Amino acid sequence: MIRDFRQMSWPDVEEALKLKRPAILPLGAVEQHGAHLPLTVDADLAEGVARALAKRTDGLLLPVCSYGETWSSEAFAGTLSISPETLRAMIEDIGRGLIQMGVPALITLNGHFGNNGPIGLAARTLQAEGLPILHLDYPDLEALAGRICTSEPAGPSFFHADEVETSMMMALRPEAVDLTRAQAEYPEFPQTFGYEQFQLRDISKSGVFGDPRMSTAEKGEQLISGIVDAAAPLVDAFLARHGLSAQDSDQGEDHD
Ligand SMILES: [Zn+2]
Repeated sequence: MIRDFRQMSWPDVEEALKLKRPAILPLGAVEQHGAHLPLTVDADLAEGVARALAKRTDGLLLPVCSYGETWSSEAFAGTLSISPETLRAMIEDIGRGLIQMGVPALITLNGHFGNNGPIGLAARTLQAEGLPILHLDYPDLEALAGRICTSEPAGPSFFHADEVETSMMMALRPEAVDLTRAQAEYPEFPQTFGYEQFQLRDISKSGVFGDPRMSTAEKGEQLISGIVDAAAPLVDAFLARHGLSAQDSDQGEDHD
């Protein structure tokens, strides 16, 4: 069973709050992902992984924050970026609402690299206000990709519209993937990449970084369950640090 805000009414939430479970907030982006994937990939994947994590850890699944900080892809049509200040303020506002409600902790599950800075800053603010935050992206993804996927990544820990993201989308939203339009591209990164601000369209024609052509739903399922396996002990350790119980999702009761 998943405690999902998209299915719950306010009395359901009021009841669930008695269990003192953490909330899980998925964060994505509206960003180009090549010709074979829709613009909502990062939000769809973050939501899917957060859902699996909520099931495993008995967390309260919040609706996904679908917009993110995607400045570097703005030159591709369809990409809609919000400012880091807006994103930070939104997370802080959501966090304050959770404090008011009596949620004891927040887990952010981020599916888009550009969101990391604002999430970290919001976490500092909210921690000071009494809400502990665990900031996860996709733990262990690099090792999992090396084990499960066959194509080379475009760069270390750089997964964008490639076999990793495409496979995960095929597992979660197969109807939104058109593999017939998938093409491989290995952009040549300038020597100062990571040290200068680059618009990705200056580096990539297709918007693909890597080779998505051998993607499968099965690989996507393995990647997602591997990420959740890596995230669950982090959640347990985080909850233990803050005096909250790690709970088996099958119990459905407080162990305190
Ligand atoms: Zn992505």
